Amino acid sequence: IESKLPGVGTTIFSVMTELARTHEAVNLGQGFPDFPPPARLTEALARAVADGHNQYPPGIGVAALREQIAAQTAARDGRAADPATEITVTSGATEAIFAAIAAVVRAGDEVIVLDPAYDCYGPAIALQNARAVHVPLSPPSFAIDWQRLADAITPRTRMLIVNTPHNPTGAVLSAADLEALAGLLRDTEIVLLSDEVYEHMVFDGAIHQSVSRHSELVERSFVIGSFGKTYHCTGWKIGYCVAPPALTAELRRIHQYLTFASFAPAQHALAEMLAFEPEHHRGLAVFYQARRDRFRELLAATPLRLLDVPGGYFQLVDYRDVRDVDDACFCQWLVREAGVVGVPLSPFYESPPDDRLLRLCFAKRDATLEAAAARLARLP
Ligand code: PMP
Ligand code: GLN
Repeated sequence: IESKLPGVGTTIFSVMTELARTHEAVNLGQGFPDFPPPARLTEALARAVADGHNQYPPGIGVAALREQIAAQTAARDGRAADPATEITVTSGATEAIFAAIAAVVRAGDEVIVLDPAYDCYGPAIALQNARAVHVPLSPPSFAIDWQRLADAITPRTRMLIVNTPHNPTGAVLSAADLEALAGLLRDTEIVLLSDEVYEHMVFDGAIHQSVSRHSELVERSFVIGSFGKTYHCTGWKIGYCVAPPALTAELRRIHQYLTFASFAPAQHALAEMLAFEPEHHRGLAVFYQARRDRFRELLAATPLRLLDVPGGYFQLVDYRDVRDVDDACFCQWLVREAGVVGVPLSPFYESPPDDRLLRLCFAKRDATLEAAAARLARLP
């Protein structure tokens, strides 16, 4: 049959994890922790099942969880979001992103995406018969080029997607960036989608500049998070979207026929965990900064050049001193030669630049990072 997404193959994350499995390589490719969620959370999940939370939960999400998300958003960002009309629990951030795009983007619209971009935005845009307009971020800091972004806006621009902290580069938006965004979008009808799944992983004392902190941007924004990152449970697939009532109403129209509701026991367990330890997320920046620093220390003994990592859980490395080949080639070579799997950056681009960059995930135990670094240190 004729494909609706002819340009789309298997996602790079599945490809690289499969490659790691077949080569018994150290997998620093797909972004997931190799340590468990907090015991309290897994116990709460078992209890939720035993307590009978096994039937459909409310489609918009278990009330206790929406209330906890509201409390967190208020405490951290000073935004009072109404759990009844502004917060929706989804099956991972991926579902929230798809539903938000499907809710407001129409055929013929343009959606601005900043490259390199996480891989689920493009297909969701294409399925609305809309067009993704790709604006490159500027290496090595991957900051927004404001002039290029302004130049990309047309009367057909319906949405702009930002991601902070950023996958794959780790770049974070500053308060000044949010101001600039507000200025750029003022007097337009453009909806902002802010993908903030790494919201708690911002390093070196910086503060996560959520769009939820900016009252003007809040009015036009879907702000999306994921418990997969926050509680080391990427396989649970529970995400959420905070958006003003009019946008939430449209997102829910899609959500109720896309999945209707998300895994009930996990929602109860997460609500319990958030109530039990509302400060959990505060420790995450320190925890992941230590992972980052340990990994960088280990990589110093390899021929790889390290880019800065202000946030998220990925280290970008420049491998040009090892081999001057494109990133897909290098990744394949690296698995065979060193038994280490990373992720090439080209799948995150519409037009990949001629960079020599590789993404390595440091959300791993010391033993895993040490094993990877020891193999990388032996590179010819
Ligand atoms: N956005 C970004 C930037 C991501 O890195 C990911 C995956 N880790 C997602 C969205 C999807 O999150 P989820 O697994 O909750 O669907
Ligand atoms: N977000 C994860 C990453 O960037 C992968 C998620 C997925 O496999 N779809 O590696």
